[in-house]
Amino acid sequence: MTPPRNSNAARDIANVLHPYTDAKAHMVNGPLVISRGKGVRIYDDQGKEYIEALAGLWCASLGFDNERLVKAATDQMRKLPFYHSFTAKSHEPMIDLAEMLIERAPAPMSKVFFGNSGSEANDSAIKMIWYMNNALGRPKKKKLFSRLKGYHGITLAAASLTGLPANHKLFDAPIAGGRFCHVGTPHHYHNAKPGESEEDFATRLAEELEARIIEEGGAEECAAFWAEPAMGAGGVIIPPRTYFPKIQAVLKKYDMLFVADEVICGFGRTGNYWGCQTFDIQPDILVCAKALSSAYLPISAVMVNEAVFQGIAEGSSTVGTWGHGFTYSGHPVSAAVAIETLKIYDEMGTIAHAAEVGAHMQAELRRRFTDHPLVGEVRGVGLIGAIELTSDKAARKPIDPAKKAGARLVKHGEEQGVILRAMVNDSMGFSPPLVITKEEVTEMLDRVGRALDALA
Ligand code: PLP
Repeated sequence: MTPPRNSNAARDIANVLHPYTDAKAHMVNGPLVISRGKGVRIYDDQGKEYIEALAGLWCASLGFDNERLVKAATDQMRKLPFYHSFTAKSHEPMIDLAEMLIERAPAPMSKVFFGNSGSEANDSAIKMIWYMNNALGRPKKKKLFSRLKGYHGITLAAASLTGLPANHKLFDAPIAGGRFCHVGTPHHYHNAKPGESEEDFATRLAEELEARIIEEGGAEECAAFWAEPAMGAGGVIIPPRTYFPKIQAVLKKYDMLFVADEVICGFGRTGNYWGCQTFDIQPDILVCAKALSSAYLPISAVMVNEAVFQGIAEGSSTVGTWGHGFTYSGHPVSAAVAIETLKIYDEMGTIAHAAEVGAHMQAELRRRFTDHPLVGEVRGVGLIGAIELTSDKAARKPIDPAKKAGARLVKHGEEQGVILRAMVNDSMGFSPPLVITKEEVTEMLDRVGRALDALA
């Protein structure tokens, strides 16, 4: 149906190039225009109400109407709306936020670098590692390992870490000739050999990583390993319990850093403050964004431990100043909102609430959908989960992509009043605002059930 002339939808079609959208289909289908939000709900410009099952893009952790965050932003705007942090300039919001993050880190961290997005943070971490190894006289130690289906963003270096074909082949990524090495996805459901236990599967992945490190030049050439504690955009993939400890043992052997991409998992999403705590990871570098400010303003952070910081500090006196930063690194208004967000998490017990409601959501996802004929696997931890659609439960076969089952389910979801997101293999993700109640989880999953039945 063609949208009425001069409607929001018509003006959108005429003027906007959307991220991650089929540009041609969009000219026919048009957008869903969202006008306002309240709690875990959003409303379109026709007044229809939806529960946001993804908290936007895994990010609006405190829901869509938090007045404390609005006040933090407006107070800071009146006081100092902008100042930069280049050439040793600073301001209190950035200093306070850095201190708060270091206090809350899951492993000893020394310094915080700020950006505006998860992609920028991952790019920055890549540059830190390359700069540090140049400074330390290890110019060959540059190779970075990440996992197939991992998601680390879309700027060219971050997209090179990302392990999804859509982010590579049409954008000439990976860049930097052979420095990006992708290894296996810890998804037992699809990737285990017949009869292989979770433990044996984890052992095999660690052995495969070690073999690849050796093939790529060992400690001399291999610098770091990147991972989301639980993979998000790749389909919400939860690794076997012993996977990360085994991987970290290999990395130690080859003097490689562990970079934890906590852009989705950070701040309570998996039931603990950090995904690193849920999955037994001791990172050298930690990247976070999204729920850092409950997504009310763009901000991301890279925390580095003392050894990495010393490498960077060393560089400034030997190879030249750490020449990296964004105009808005540590933006005072974003930092003020992030500070308020972290205070709210502490004062309102948001992380404990997410753990409790998360356990309920996991149980309900399994109770309702495990036996559904269209559902192959139900998975998740805390307040992040997924159901993966299948055309053959026993053979674990994805539905033929030509049938666009995921996209159709998203549409049925919208009709039922729930915003869903389809990912790899028609996996439907759940990552509602952390403030969601058990009653709202019930309402959300009732709507998902009706959407799924409409697809059947
Ligand atoms: N890392 C992870 C784990 C993500 O999920 C995302 C985005 O979803 C990014 C990085 C990139 O963040 P941004 O879209 O803010 O650049």
